[in-house]
Amino acid sequence: RNLILFQRSTVPRKNVIEFRPPLYKQRYFFVKDIVNQYKPKKVADLGCGNATLLCMLKFHSCVQELVGVDLLMDRLLDWNSDKLSPSIGDHLGPRDLDLSIVLYRGSAVEKDSRLLGFDLITCIELIEHLDSEDLAKFPEVVFGYFSPGMVVISTPNSDFNPLFPASTFRNSDHKFEWNQTQFQHWASNVAKLYSYTVEFTGVGVPPPWAKHVGYCTQIGIFKKKQPDPGSWILAKPTGSRVSEPEEHAYQVIDPRKILHAHKWCQSWSTVFTASFPSLQQKHFLLFVLCTEVLKEVEAIRQKYVWIMKRKESSEPESEEDTDSGLVRRPGLFLTDAQVAQIEKSPKPYSVGKRFYVPLKRLIGYPKVNRLVADVSTLRTLLAEGIPMRLNRAHTSVQIDLDPYDYPHDYR
Ligand code: SAH
Repeated sequence: RNLILFQRSTVPRKNVIEFRPPLYKQRYFFVKDIVNQYKPKKVADLGCGNATLLCMLKFHSCVQELVGVDLLMDRLLDWNSDKLSPSIGDHLGPRDLDLSIVLYRGSAVEKDSRLLGFDLITCIELIEHLDSEDLAKFPEVVFGYFSPGMVVISTPNSDFNPLFPASTFRNSDHKFEWNQTQFQHWASNVAKLYSYTVEFTGVGVPPPWAKHVGYCTQIGIFKKKQPDPGSWILAKPTGSRVSEPEEHAYQVIDPRKILHAHKWCQSWSTVFTASFPSLQQKHFLLFVLCTEVLKEVEAIRQKYVWIMKRKESSEPESEEDTDSGLVRRPGLFLTDAQVAQIEKSPKPYSVGKRFYVPLKRLIGYPKVNRLVADVSTLRTLLAEGIPMRLNRAHTSVQIDLDPYDYPHDYR
């Protein structure tokens, strides 16, 4: 026991390399940053392993299609299929845009037309698992055939290996581990051959006393130079600005090309599919819209009755009694412009035991406006949604007042 302790303590501290966060997470975060920056719509991860990266990417609102491909899927899928499936929260708060996730069992060096037209393909710690025959096929399949807007390839940097205590490959299945010169030579040739640019970077910063060895994981970022007419173009980097869906600058690949290719090239087997609820699907839009409208109408009713009661009790006038007092309420964050817009719209009113909020007013509330842009669409959707009472002219939503709040007509 003492001996072991003694031996451990004699390992020079500088030789114990530890990454925080762990290196595999740094690789995933690297890809997440790329996705944040370039907002790809269709992303595929070749050699996806247990699909952890895909689980992380499903939270990016720009991504609408996520595909994972791996030779071995079965043993890994069990524990992650739940994380890749829509949860109850995804149903209650659907995404803005559709998202489908598909996992295929297959080899990254086989052509499959279902991977045509992607914006980003990632190969994280994959190439070093390919034998020389597969490695030779890889560029033609990924860059020549799949030909996505962007490719991110990561692989161990063997220049870093002397910093580890053991001088073997980092994983027993690795067929090779390249130094920086070898990787950059291979990647530059591939980029040149298939008309991509390539930049080199990495994750896993070396300790200050060994800066010369470079990153522990080396990464090549390949961008397609001049896309063929009719192929996909990646959106321009948008920095930290939030991009709206319509800002994507994609050109759609000629569908005949895909349909034709589908007939003759499908080699992978599908192991998992999931389709996420989104506001692009009408029944989810209706559900969310009706919920938001009812919440808004109910909150407006409470404020309205409260103000009317204040007036009746002849309390001194306060800011609450003004028009903007009726619009504002705790927890509702509106800009002054939004308040002014709502104030200008027709006011809520009550008749007998009924309370009405004009649709023209409702559309001014951001949570409603986010879902529908104009009054006529709002009217049509509310008529189709969960039974929602409108007045006869179909201009206002109608709910009941609390019996305690009428016999008065608050007009
Ligand atoms: N990308 C994952 C897993 C890396 S390990 C991560 O970063 O966590 C390498 C993975 O590549 C393994 O899951 C292995 O099964 C897979 N793999 C190896 N050869 C492959 C091939 N020809 N096609 C697809 N996947 C392959």
